[in-house]
Amino acid sequence: MATLRLSALRKTYPNGFTALHGADLEIADGELIVVVGPSGCGKSTLLRMLAGLESISDGELVIDDRRVNDLEPAQRDIAMVFQNYALYPHMSVADNMAYALKNRGIPKAERRRKVEETARLIGLEDLLDRRPKQLSGGQRQRVAMGRAIVREPRVFLFDEPLSNLDAKLRVQMRLEIRRLQKRLGVTAVYVTHDQVEAMTLADRLVVMNGGRIEQVGTPMHLYERP
Ligand code: ADP
Ligand code: ADP
Repeated sequence: MATLRLSALRKTYPNGFTALHGADLEIADGELIVVVGPSGCGKSTLLRMLAGLESISDGELVIDDRRVNDLEPAQRDIAMVFQNYALYPHMSVADNMAYALKNRGIPKAERRRKVEETARLIGLEDLLDRRPKQLSGGQRQRVAMGRAIVREPRVFLFDEPLSNLDAKLRVQMRLEIRRLQKRLGVTAVYVTHDQVEAMTLADRLVVMNGGRIEQVGTPMHLYERP
C-alpha cells in the first residue's frame, strides 16, 4: 500500500516535444485510479514516469512521503503489467514469476513458497511448468499478473493489460483484477482507452487530453447526466 503524490509533473522528450504539461494528482492508499483519454494524450508517458522507465523533466513524484524522482525502477516497489505480457518465452511460468525474486537475492525455498502461494491466489497452480507459448492469451495475462503480485509491490501499474484479449475474457479479467487489487490493498494506476473498462474498474477516473489532466472524479461523478 502506498500514497502517491504528483506535483507539476512534466515530461519533455529529447526531441523537444512536451507530452505532459505539469500534472498534479494525489492518489490514496489502496485506491484504483484509471487513466483515460485519446491516443497520444500522454497516458503511457505518465505511467512510465511513475514506473521510472522515463525520466522526469520537472516537478516531483512522491511515494509515501519519499521523493522518488531519481530512483531506479527496481527501487520504487512498483510492478507494471503490460499489454503484450512481456513474458520470457524460454522460461516456465514458475521461473517467469520467480525471476524478479531471484534478482533480489531471495533464497530458493522462499521463492518457491511465494510463487506457489501467488499461483493459488490467481489460479495458475496447474500451469507452473508450462512455457508461455503453451498458454492461451488469458492465461498469459494471468502469468503477467502473477509475476507482478509475487513481488508484493506497493503500487501496481497497468498499461492497457487486457486489450489483446477477446471481449468475454476482458470482462472476466477486469473483474478479477479489481478483486485482487482490493484484496491485496495495493494502490493501482490503470491505463485504458476502453470507457466501459474504465467505469467498471475505477475508484476514480483521471481524464487526460493533450498532455494535461482535464478531469478527476469518481465514475458516477464524471458520467452523471444533468
Ligand atoms: P498515449 O499513451 O496516451 O497514447 P503517449 O504517452 O504514448 O500517449 O504519447 C504522448 C505523446 O508523446 C504522443 O504525441 C507521442 O507521439 C509522444 N511521444 C511518446 N514517446 C515519445 C518519445 N520517445 N519522443 C518524442 N515523443 C514521444
Ligand atoms: P482459454 O479457454 O482459457 O482461453 P484455450 O481455449 O486457448 O484457453 O485452451 C483451452 C485449454 O487448453 C486451456 O485450459 C489450456 O490450458 C490448454 N492449452 C492451451 N494451449 C495449450 C498447449 N499448447 N498445450 C497444452 N495445453 C494447452
